[in-house]
Amino acid sequence: MTKKQIAIIGAGPAGLAAAQALSGLGHDITIYEAMPTPARKFLWAGKSGLNITHAEQFETFQTRFGAANARLSTALEQFTPDHIRAWATQLGVETFIGSSGRVFPKAMKASPLLRAWLAELEAAGVQLKTRHKWCGFDGDQLMFETQDGTINIKPDAVILALGGASYQRLGSTAEWEKHLTKNNVTIAPLQPANCGFDVQWSEFLVEKFAGAPVKTVEITLGDKKTKGEFVISKSGVEGSLIYAFSAQLRDQLETNNQATLQLDLVPGKTAEQIADALARQNPKHSLSNRLRKGAKLTGVKAALVRELYPEANKATPEELGQRLKALELPLLRTRPIDEAISTAGGVAWDQIDENYMLKQMPGVFVAGEMIDWEAPTGGYLITACLATGRAAGAGAKNWLTQTNDL
Ligand SMILES: Cc1cc2nc3c(=O)[nH]c(=O)nc-3n(C[C@H](O)[C@H](O)[C@H](O)COP(=O)(O)OP(=O)(O)OC[C@H]3O[C@@H](n4cnc5c(N)ncnc54)[C@H](O)[C@@H]3O)c2cc1C
Repeated sequence: MTKKQIAIIGAGPAGLAAAQALSGLGHDITIYEAMPTPARKFLWAGKSGLNITHAEQFETFQTRFGAANARLSTALEQFTPDHIRAWATQLGVETFIGSSGRVFPKAMKASPLLRAWLAELEAAGVQLKTRHKWCGFDGDQLMFETQDGTINIKPDAVILALGGASYQRLGSTAEWEKHLTKNNVTIAPLQPANCGFDVQWSEFLVEKFAGAPVKTVEITLGDKKTKGEFVISKSGVEGSLIYAFSAQLRDQLETNNQATLQLDLVPGKTAEQIADALARQNPKHSLSNRLRKGAKLTGVKAALVRELYPEANKATPEELGQRLKALELPLLRTRPIDEAISTAGGVAWDQIDENYMLKQMPGVFVAGEMIDWEAPTGGYLITACLATGRAAGAGAKNWLTQTNDL
């Protein structure tokens, strides 16, 4: 095949994975990145441990992407969690499986992996041009704002790997939405995923407990129950246990304008056991003393009881026992998308063919978080970004081969 020019826009995990899939074929590959350095969100993710994939049964793993399960399955089968671990090892980064099944690099950060990955791409001849912000199409050309003014290029294939709309300061600003909409590409509305929620806290609770972790609790929403911990924020609640329910909660808020979580503050005991222990306390003692002695609840958990069950003081031991197992926490709204861990919505699947090419725009491929899928935290996000990046790279390779033969 004759040498082709391939432009990959966005140097996050999806864009880098696309470059990797295309490298070694003799094409000119250039990654264009708006920020001064690549993969800022990936590095940021590393600050909290870099959960790179998940070690659960692959059949279960594949079901974590909701409505996008079927469309993502081929890409995930081509680049499974086992492949990701082997790939990291080959880059000199050993991984381990945590007690929850989550997979992390032993160093618990992203920078060694990113360094080795960029070095490998550079050695394969992939060019990285930072401070090149894609600002749309000009006919069949791509326009970039650079330090030296606007430039236009006309590659043979383009892979867009521009990310979602959260943590915009790290580069993913979702400005691509307007450039694609202009070209009649349908975008499912971008929404916060793995996000926090606003709660009408009292000033007292915010002053005393903003930032406090609430552990261990069990949350129930509909049929789903999960144990873990969350954090009280100034405006509401956030943290891994909340994120686990966030897609359902967001959708409930949108349809019903309300969503309520049920908190079990004493997951190890039944309501009857708690009621018995509370009944043995002196009713003249303060609520705090009875909660501490009867249910071992202090600090933020006791404060939540007072906040969410103002009648707790007058409740019978049975009533209190039942409430501690099912304390209702009404949520007002999602936190803004910029604060979310990830983005739901994006380029609609019916716009994308099996090669990850936009049906409306031959030669333009998409990958990563900018596509319409969402998943919980647990390494699913990075896995799907890597897998779709590779799939888009392989798709571009197929397409270039086909068009070369014409
Ligand atoms: C705090 C935090 C922690 C996280 N932790 C984890 C975790 O542990 N495990 C996990 O699986 N996921 C985690 N994630 C999610 C994960 O980081 C993202 O899903 C992933 O980085 C998305 O990859 P991407 O390549 O699609 O997009 P991005 O990583 O967002 O990369 C897109 C790139 O495109 C560039 N770009 C955007 N617009 C333009 C333009 N117009 N021109 C040129 N370049 C442009 C951006 O600057 C950026 O570099 C975390 C996210 C956050 C915010």
